[in-house]
Amino acid sequence: MSSLPANIGDAFHDIDTPALVVDLDAFEKNLKTMADFVRKKGLRLRPHAKTHRCADIALKQIQLGAVGQCCQKVGEAEALIKAGVRNIIITNQIVSEAKLVRLAHLARQADIALCFDDRKQVDMASRIAAAQGVELGALVEVDVGMKRCGVAPGVPACELAAYIEAAPALRFRGLQAYQGAAQHLRTYEARKAAVEHAAQQVQSTVDLLSENGISCEIVAGAGTGTYPFESAAGPWNELQAGSYIFMDAEYGAIEGADGGPYSDFNHSLFVLASVMSVAAVPGRAILDAGLKSFSVEKGMPKVHGLRDATVIGASDEHAVLVMDTAHGARNLALGDKVMLIPGHCDPTVSLHECIVGVRNGRVESTWRIDRDGSSR
Ligand code: PLP
Ligand code: MN
Repeated sequence: MSSLPANIGDAFHDIDTPALVVDLDAFEKNLKTMADFVRKKGLRLRPHAKTHRCADIALKQIQLGAVGQCCQKVGEAEALIKAGVRNIIITNQIVSEAKLVRLAHLARQADIALCFDDRKQVDMASRIAAAQGVELGALVEVDVGMKRCGVAPGVPACELAAYIEAAPALRFRGLQAYQGAAQHLRTYEARKAAVEHAAQQVQSTVDLLSENGISCEIVAGAGTGTYPFESAAGPWNELQAGSYIFMDAEYGAIEGADGGPYSDFNHSLFVLASVMSVAAVPGRAILDAGLKSFSVEKGMPKVHGLRDATVIGASDEHAVLVMDTAHGARNLALGDKVMLIPGHCDPTVSLHECIVGVRNGRVESTWRIDRDGSSR
């Protein structure tokens, strides 16, 4: 017996719950929208695999022109390389010996680069890569306003780049400049202003490097909320958006250029849940999906396609849905299925083992999500 929630060819209403479901029409449209955008702009797209952790999706993105994948974790890169991906940037600092040895192994099969913001880390990575007989690509991460990782733009970034150039087993490739704090700013103008501010810092760093004889093959950044701005700004040549393939309620809450809902991409990702109890309180339905099926740090999931139905709480394996029947909400019955739009796609996806692709009321695909050591 398969442990998957569905098999290819099943009817939509026979999908077992909870299940992570993707509307394939919306998903494919999102893939194409971004692929067409970067092609027109003459930029490279390297989508972030932390959103999907799924080799089937990575390969589709590459087939549509993406140059490779971004990963946050060595484990994510291992899974993708096993599936045939040959070009990966770890958009993160890797500081353990064991992980660097694993990365060095991967560098024998694929083009690998990782991010740096500390000389100590440069020494360690270079020593391990040299001992393994490989060369690792290196990006200097610049903090352009997120205050997470990265050295300051300008002189500190330039000094670290020079230090990397002198390291025996590292090859300087460019800058990682991701403005994560801008992605979900509500207004278009606020996101634009945040990226324009970052752009000045990135451009002056690129210029300073160039004055010192160091060229940047890669200047990477951008996410789903800001990619048009990095594309227009000048210094960036590689976009690393991830969430655009699925979207989520958090992205659903930001505004587009006209002040209306942000509509560059469509919601394609849903957690399908069933009503498992209506006994305790009239007007409430208890769903069979809870914290182990969707992340809630960005708020409770939204209920798709049902008016006046709201998820008001969740525990491990339950969600509480309230139906405002006075305002026309339909009373849900035992066994009814509900499609939830998760607050945040990436951590929701990694709670599941499979993405069920649906089209025209049928299951068309079941893609495995890599869960083997992906967070290490
Ligand atoms: N690049 C980096 C370094 C990130 O951390 C993220 C997401 O947090 C992204 C790109 C992609 O952003 P998004 O999923 O919002 O498109
Ligand atoms: Mn995210």
